[in-house]
Amino acid sequence: MSHAFLSTSIEYLKGVGPKRAEIIKKELGIYTYEQLLSYYPFRYIDRSKVHQIKNINSTEIHVQLKGKITRISEAGEKRGKRLIAQLQDDTGSIELVWFKGIKWVKPKLSVGKEYTIFGKPSQFSNSYNLVHPEFEERQINQPIQASLQPVYSSTEKANSSGLNSKGIAKITKALVLQLAGHIPETLSRRIMNEMKLISKEKVLREIHFPTNAENLKKAIYRLKFEEFFFLQLRLLKQKVVQEQKLKGFVFETIGESFNTFYNTKLPFELTNAQKRVVKEIRHDMGTGKHMNRLLQGDVGSGKTLVGLLSMLIAKDNGFQSLLMAPTEILATQHYATIHNYLEGTGVTCALLTGSSKTSERKVIHEQLLNGKLDILIGTHALLEDIVQFKNLGLSIIDEQHRFGVKQRSKLWKKNSIPPHVLVMTATPIPRTLAMTVYGDLDISVIDELPPGRKEITTLHKFDKDRLYVFKFMEKQIAEGRQVYVVYPLIDESEHLDFKDLMDGYESMARRFPLPTYRLSIVHGKMKAADKEYEMQQFAKGHTQIMVATTVIEVGVNVPNATVMIIESANKFGLSQLHQLRGRVGRGSDKSYCILMTDYKLSETARTRIETMVRTNDGFEIAEEDLKLRGPGDILGTQQSGVLDLKIGDLIKDNKLVATARNLAGELLKLDPSLELQENYLIRQQLAELIRRKPNWGRIS
Ligand code: ADP
Ligand code: MG
Repeated sequence: MSHAFLSTSIEYLKGVGPKRAEIIKKELGIYTYEQLLSYYPFRYIDRSKVHQIKNINSTEIHVQLKGKITRISEAGEKRGKRLIAQLQDDTGSIELVWFKGIKWVKPKLSVGKEYTIFGKPSQFSNSYNLVHPEFEERQINQPIQASLQPVYSSTEKANSSGLNSKGIAKITKALVLQLAGHIPETLSRRIMNEMKLISKEKVLREIHFPTNAENLKKAIYRLKFEEFFFLQLRLLKQKVVQEQKLKGFVFETIGESFNTFYNTKLPFELTNAQKRVVKEIRHDMGTGKHMNRLLQGDVGSGKTLVGLLSMLIAKDNGFQSLLMAPTEILATQHYATIHNYLEGTGVTCALLTGSSKTSERKVIHEQLLNGKLDILIGTHALLEDIVQFKNLGLSIIDEQHRFGVKQRSKLWKKNSIPPHVLVMTATPIPRTLAMTVYGDLDISVIDELPPGRKEITTLHKFDKDRLYVFKFMEKQIAEGRQVYVVYPLIDESEHLDFKDLMDGYESMARRFPLPTYRLSIVHGKMKAADKEYEMQQFAKGHTQIMVATTVIEVGVNVPNATVMIIESANKFGLSQLHQLRGRVGRGSDKSYCILMTDYKLSETARTRIETMVRTNDGFEIAEEDLKLRGPGDILGTQQSGVLDLKIGDLIKDNKLVATARNLAGELLKLDPSLELQENYLIRQQLAELIRRKPNWGRIS
């Protein structure tokens, strides 16, 4: 019945027909009644407001005027011919101008009569006028029509076929007039009541032709809620199914390795957030469910340690683990840290990267297979098929935003039974967004930094301040501290970027000469071994200044470095700046981040810099980043299925997302397969949505 109505082809709609239907399909992607109904206006023009002529001061907004025509004249010749009418209200007067259709307009205008005029002001020398405004004669004292007029987006082609915003409004109106009795409810009574939602039919009327602002608000609210609700319902259902299907190894013992490390090697107390997260991980791995968890924690919050503790639990239960990092430098550093921690515990670890020697590899491959090796740390090299384990129980991915979905799934296939998976990231995204985008992951958050960390002071400086910056470096180095100077390298092969880096290095070397100063340089064109050597020189304090490209962005840990200078800081994204800043402030000394730019900055670059100067909070920065770039840009296209929302905005409407998720969760708890009569409509709608979008929800 009703679905038949909604799936009616658009050509049967009054005023459309086969020819226009073709254009509507091709240009607007609208094939059915339902698609036309969900082609929502992107804004509304408020026709209930009357502007005063003297207050017109912008060409940005449409205005509605009420006044008397005081003069009508024609000017110009042929193509320059125009009709000019003077409109006057109590506050002033303005010219109305027509270049086209003069023959048609002129007889409808008379001097002395009252009109309602609607249009967008143009600026004309020092005053404003209205070109081709809409107009309507008014009876004296006739009330202004209170209504919000929909504005639809269109394309050039559709436009020229009469399907401009107005044309679309016209056919939509024809459809809306037929809705009565044809629009099935999609939500249960219970949820409708709880959320105080208006009926679906009313929603569709109001979203296109609002009777007033209040009702429009209600319509938008319901549409957003519904969009989020079904998205969350789908994600949660999928998660339940996955959990039932996938059984994980049970790590029930906390044994010798863990305890020895915890009691004798752990150099500091875990933060409460770390403790909580370790508990969550233990719970996942101990219960027979398959862990698939995202660990979010700001730069420097101590994720590595959480990873290590998890791997020790695996070891205590007789399983091997791997830890994969996005760069060789980072993998090497993890290895150094962990190797050091594990000394004397009897737990073995090894490093495997692209530059591991063949002979080393052979040993590693062997020891993985015979079980002598407990923990393997490395880069993408770990993904190669030749790397096989005796019994891989846990895979950890560090800085997961650097890896693709494909790589993550490859790790699963290392065993016939997939290992537990923990992915760690320092690019936090707001929780509701994370839950949606990584719908199949559980989420842990370390929302606390280890004690004693000092806030990093961030400064914005210009080229003219360079002498001051050098002086400052000099002072810090004299106090025994170390300095990073980072240059942007958008594309590693880009010649110019590389030249900037080299020029920078040379001028730095002149200003900070041997033998008092030693400089390191690291960039993408160097051999891995050379990079590694330079990094080590810096880490050991043999060099005081590290000039580098963003290869040092992730993870690198040199606690004695207290100054991070970022050249051309405007060229970096927010999360990258935050990551880079996170390279300092790792020891007990006060640290600084100096952002160097030109005077000329784009507005978004300025916002990024200001945000960095204002806050150290990774979550706040992530949120700002989302506002600037939008989630699609940040999370990549693989999640576009989730982010492809018609009306909801996962960032701006995050409260409603959370509400929708809670309600969907409660619903599934009470009625996991939606069998209850009261949830019949929901089940139907969900099935309908899945039928239409088979890929929907097949995420991450
Ligand atoms: P990230 O979360 O950015 O990966 P790391 O794991 O590299 O952070 O940790 C940053 C630094 O903090 C390391 O030097 C680590 O030893 C130290 N650290 C981690 N946890 C604690 C803690 N609970 N107390 C003190 N220092 C800690
Ligand atoms: Mg890290």
